[in-house]
Amino acid sequence: MFTLPKLPYGYDALEPVISERTLHFHYDKHHATYVKTLNELLEKAGKTPGTLEQTIVEASKAGDKKLFNNAAQAWNHTFFWSSMTPHRERPAGDLAKAIDAAFDSLDGLKKAFVTEGVGHFGSGWVWLVADKSGTLAVRSTHDADDTVIQSDLTPLMVCDLWEHAYYLDHQNDRKGFLEAWFDALPHWEFAGYQFAAAKGNGEPWRHPAPDAGEQRNTRAG
Ligand code: MN
Repeated sequence: MFTLPKLPYGYDALEPVISERTLHFHYDKHHATYVKTLNELLEKAGKTPGTLEQTIVEASKAGDKKLFNNAAQAWNHTFFWSSMTPHRERPAGDLAKAIDAAFDSLDGLKKAFVTEGVGHFGSGWVWLVADKSGTLAVRSTHDADDTVIQSDLTPLMVCDLWEHAYYLDHQNDRKGFLEAWFDALPHWEFAGYQFAAAKGNGEPWRHPAPDAGEQRNTRAG
């Protein structure tokens, strides 16, 4: 069984960009439901999950859209919470240099990130990714699609483009949400760690593994 990972901060920590009310709905309802449905689907199929990353890749290969959607959304949301911090940060070191190389400046990256997110039709995610050579790019993915199935790319950060991520606070103003989000919330220290991992220095972030104790209990019961 996968458990819903704890939020790394309080419900009101991301205000005013993401309100306490939004975070309650987003984490308590949306994210929790993806994890619950994922576990139900695995149980129904009699599958003992390995890692969440393996589950996502296998579901994608098997064309199991329902399992893929719920597994990928569980991963995406936990990564999204990890991509943010209540403390305003700026990129540093190698990451700051790579941002300047690819986008001229942090402001250039902001423009690319917001433009990609605003131009993305419908639900999805906007990512900052790095390839193995350390070249940065901005990408968006549709619905539950993520970067786990693209083994050549490492995500540095992501922002949720589904309306449930911003509608209570910003209504239909996705651009306003993304601009405010980019200025206040990216966890650049975490992004820097991911950037090093992309180039082979350290391991990239992994979703917490399923709870083995919980599985044993289920089988015994
Ligand atoms: Mn979401």
